[in-house]
Amino acid sequence: MGNIKFIGTGSGKTSLKRFHSSFLISTVDYNLLVDAGDGVSKALLAQNVDYNSINGILFSHLHPDHYTGLAALIVQMKMQNRKVKLDIYVHKNLSNTLESFLINSYLFPEGMGFEITYHQFDDDKNFAVGKNIQIRSRQNSHLKNASNLPGYKDKSFSCSSFLFNINGNMIHYTGDIGCADDLLLFKEFDSNYLITEVTHIQFSELLELIGKEISPGKIILTHLSDGDNMLFEEKIKTLSMELSEKFIIAFDGMTFDI
Ligand SMILES: [Zn+2]
Ligand SMILES: [Zn+2]
Repeated sequence: MGNIKFIGTGSGKTSLKRFHSSFLISTVDYNLLVDAGDGVSKALLAQNVDYNSINGILFSHLHPDHYTGLAALIVQMKMQNRKVKLDIYVHKNLSNTLESFLINSYLFPEGMGFEITYHQFDDDKNFAVGKNIQIRSRQNSHLKNASNLPGYKDKSFSCSSFLFNINGNMIHYTGDIGCADDLLLFKEFDSNYLITEVTHIQFSELLELIGKEISPGKIILTHLSDGDNMLFEEKIKTLSMELSEKFIIAFDGMTFDI
């Protein structure tokens, strides 16, 4: 048994209603935080999550609403006298950037009091996190425009979508994406849940694919701006009963069993 708890369901726009997008996967032997954007320490506090219960953190990409809370979170762990090691799962092209972010935040391994282990993942290779979580990443087009800017060719614009297999439940988490085609990245897998961001795609584009290209059991909408809640509620109301029952609009603190 395990569950997923949404720590934040907001978009890149800072809001008083939602923290930035992040969720916590809890399994019998391992608790994995997915993304740790600005304010994640406060978001975890708001959800009564003990910082030191987190075994590892997985990163989708390095936009501030997905990673800059890491340094402050590690400071909190340190202040709580953490002793157990912290795993960081990051794409191989982003690992150095993340490591130097911590060093430049004066978080040196020597003074940490606990070990941080970097696990670099590569595209389309399964990796295990604890005994019950299997993860596969694929690159999406979210940072395509940035990667075309001249002058930043040395930067990595890696941005991952993930397929989680947790206790046999297949969960496709889009992370931030660039276009509706990114929703098809794991189309050969039957996902029980599609957790999709809805900032960078149109709801109508998502609808066009459901039941035709992909047929997830449930579709959880996240990465929401203020006002999106009502907007999506209205749109979902217009759907057939069968289709509308598939949709869940995420909110901070929302938890479901897996
Ligand atoms: Zn984002
Ligand atoms: Zn982003």
